Amino acid sequence: TSFTALGLGDRIAYAVQQKGYENPTPIQAQAIPVVLAGKDVIGSAQTGTGKTAAFSLPILQKLGTHGAGLRCLVLEPTRELALQVEESFKEYSKFTDLRTTVIYGGVGYGKQREELARRPDTIVATPGRLLDFMEQNEIRLDKVEVLVLDEVDRMLDMGFLPDVKRIVAKVAKNRQTLFFTATLPPEIEQLAAWALRDPFKIAV
Ligand code: AMP
Repeated sequence: TSFTALGLGDRIAYAVQQKGYENPTPIQAQAIPVVLAGKDVIGSAQTGTGKTAAFSLPILQKLGTHGAGLRCLVLEPTRELALQVEESFKEYSKFTDLRTTVIYGGVGYGKQREELARRPDTIVATPGRLLDFMEQNEIRLDKVEVLVLDEVDRMLDMGFLPDVKRIVAKVAKNRQTLFFTATLPPEIEQLAAWALRDPFKIAV
């Protein structure tokens, strides 16, 4: 398919085919090969462009199989977005054994703690609750290989910049970082310059 031509394997491509996608969107066509190649990305893209699949498909392809600990962390500004992105990861990985879970505030800890005991390969999280779990040593980021900062401008609007910085600082420097924002004011340029290494730039 046109998705396997971008470098995705059969299991991931089959899940995409079941979703009914015929062709990659522009951001997917640009991002998928670059993410598979291990490069950092800065993308200026809104929701509705196919951004979630642009990062989740190649990440799932790179993760491959379950079991090596928490290897991918995705930060989202709101519970609703975190839930949507978790659902996308789960759908796109349905023909693999990879596990994804979601962490957000405003609800009890019990169910999220049970999910963490299943050793997810990917966590999609809002910053505050993630930091709670990190402080309790219930989530450790030392094995994270791919970090996604999604909707960064909204995370800043919501006052999450200090939290985001504390989280990024806990992930190994040799990680791959994918950074998405609809706007690029100086404050976000600075955060990107600090968090990214020689990023490939995508605008759609
Ligand atoms: P997103 O921008 O990632 O929130 O995606 C917006 C919507 O587009 C979602 O409902 C996706 O399921 C859908 N979508 C993503 N990629 C494609 C594609 N290549 N073809 C058709 N629909 C897509």
